[in-house]
Amino acid sequence: MEKLRLALSAGYINGQWVGAENGETVPVVNPATGEMITTVPNMGPREAKAAVVAADAAFQSWRKTTAKHRAGLLKVWFDLIVEHADELARLLTSEQGKPYKEAYGEVMYGASFIEWFAEEAKRTYGDHIPAAMPGTRYLTLKQPVGVVTAITPWNFPIAMITRKVGPALAAGCTVVVKPGEDTPLCALAMAKLAEQAGIPAGVINVVTTANPADVGEVLCTHPLVRKVSFTGSTPVGKHILRQAADTVKKVSMELGGNAPFMVFEDADLDKAVQGALISKYRNAGQTCVCTNRLYVHDAVYDQFMTRYIEAVSQLKVGDGLAEGTEIGPLINARAVTKVDGLVAEAVRQGANLVLGGAVSDVGPHFYQPTILTDVTEQMAIAHQELFGPVTTVFRFNDEADVIRRANDTPFGLAAYFYTRDHSRIWRVSEALEYGIVGINEGIISTEVAPFGGVKESGCGREGSKYGIEDYLEIKYLCLGID
Ligand code: NAD
Repeated sequence: MEKLRLALSAGYINGQWVGAENGETVPVVNPATGEMITTVPNMGPREAKAAVVAADAAFQSWRKTTAKHRAGLLKVWFDLIVEHADELARLLTSEQGKPYKEAYGEVMYGASFIEWFAEEAKRTYGDHIPAAMPGTRYLTLKQPVGVVTAITPWNFPIAMITRKVGPALAAGCTVVVKPGEDTPLCALAMAKLAEQAGIPAGVINVVTTANPADVGEVLCTHPLVRKVSFTGSTPVGKHILRQAADTVKKVSMELGGNAPFMVFEDADLDKAVQGALISKYRNAGQTCVCTNRLYVHDAVYDQFMTRYIEAVSQLKVGDGLAEGTEIGPLINARAVTKVDGLVAEAVRQGANLVLGGAVSDVGPHFYQPTILTDVTEQMAIAHQELFGPVTTVFRFNDEADVIRRANDTPFGLAAYFYTRDHSRIWRVSEALEYGIVGINEGIISTEVAPFGGVKESGCGREGSKYGIEDYLEIKYLCLGID
C-alpha cells in the first residue's frame, strides 16, 4: 500500500484526485498509537455537488453498457483487491484498529461482494406477464435507479462500501461514497484500485470530510441523487430519511442493533462459549451485529459462566498489527468515554463487575475485555448499543420470557441462540423480531445471504440475490399489438 498510500491524501471526483477547494485538510489518526497517518481533504457542499454532477454525467453512459461489460470490470476490480489484500488489511488496521487477521478477513469479505454482484449483474431479469386483455402484451424491464449516495461507517471501512458499490455498479448506477470520517483511507484505496481496474471516471466518487452534516445534506437532498444507501447509527439514519423525503428518494438503511444472545439449558456449552466470544469481542465489540445482551438459562448458568469468564480473560489486547492481538483499540477517545461511562453507571446501579471495567494499560484507546453480571434491562447499558468489549449478562429460566425480553427493544438487526432442540429452533426463530438469526452460530455475515434489520435497525437488504434489487427500478411496458 506504500505506493497506493501516496495517492491517498486526495478525494476522488470525476476520475480526478483532488483536494478541497479551500485547501483544508483533516488528519487521519491511527487509534492504536495516536499518530497521524496522513491528511485527507476536508471537503464541503461544493465538492459534494461536483461529485453528484460527475456521477450523473457518468451515469448517462454507464447505464448503457452491457451487464456483461460491467461484470467484467467488477471482476478485474475484485482481482486487484485480492492481489492487494495484505496491503489493504494493514491500511485498515492502521486507521481502524482491528487486529490484522480480522482486517484481512474484512478485505476478503469486502471483495466477495464485488465478485458476487459481478455475477448477479447478468441475472437482473425482467418478466413477460400473461396478458389480461386480448391484443396486449405485458413486460417488465429492470433499469438502474441512477445516482446513488453511499454513506458508510468506520467500523467496516471496506466491506460496508463494497456491499453498496458492488450492487450499484452491477445494476448500472453510479455512486458518490462518503466514508466514515475516521476511516477515509480504505475508501480511497478501493477507489484507486477501481480506477486501475478501468472503471470509468465519475462512476465512483469519494468525498472526504470532517463535516458530515454539510456534505450529507447535499448528498441526501440533491435532486440528481435517486437513492441513498446508508449504514450507520439509527439517529443519523432517521435524519437522513427525513432529508431524503422531500425528493422521495429510494432509501436503504442499515442501522444500529441491540443483539440478544440466548444460551438455553440444552445448548452445547463449549460451542455457545465460542459463539458468544466471537459475536461479542470481534472488532473489540464495535460491530452492529455484536452481542449486546447475553441471556443464560439458570440451569447452565454457573457452568457456562465459568468457561466464558476463563475464555474472555485470555483475550490479548494490543496493537492490531502486533502478533497475536485479539482486541484492538476502540476507534477514538469519545468511544472509550462512552463505554467506560456505561460500565461505571451499570456498576453504580448494582451490576457486578466480574472482569475488566477500565481503560487498558496498553494505551488510552484500549478498553479491557469486561464482563458484567446481575445486569437489569432498566440499565442504559442494556438498551443502548454498547460498541465496546463488554459483555452484559442476564439470567432466565423460561423460553417465552426470554423471547419477550429479547424482543423488548426498538432494534431488530441480529439475534443469536444456542439449543439442540429442533422444535425450539423453529419456535424461537419464528418469534424473534430480527432480520438475522444465528442458531448455534456466532458468525452470520456472508455475501450470499441477505443482511439487514427490521424495526429501527433499518430497511432493505444487502448481499445475496436481493441486494441488487434496491438499485433497480421495475418498469412495466404495456404493448397494444393489434
Ligand atoms: P454514524 O451514524 O455516526 O455515522 C455513519 C456515517 O454517517 C458516517 O459516514 C458519518 O460521517 C455520517 N454522518 C454523520 N452525521 C451525518 C449527517 N448529519 N448527514 C449525513 N451523514 C452523516 O455511525 P458510526 O459511528 O460511523 O457507525 C456505527 C454505527 O453504525 C452503529 O450504530 C452500528 O450499529 C451501525 N452499523 C450498522 C451496520 C448494519 O449493517 N446495520 C453495519 C455497520 C455499522
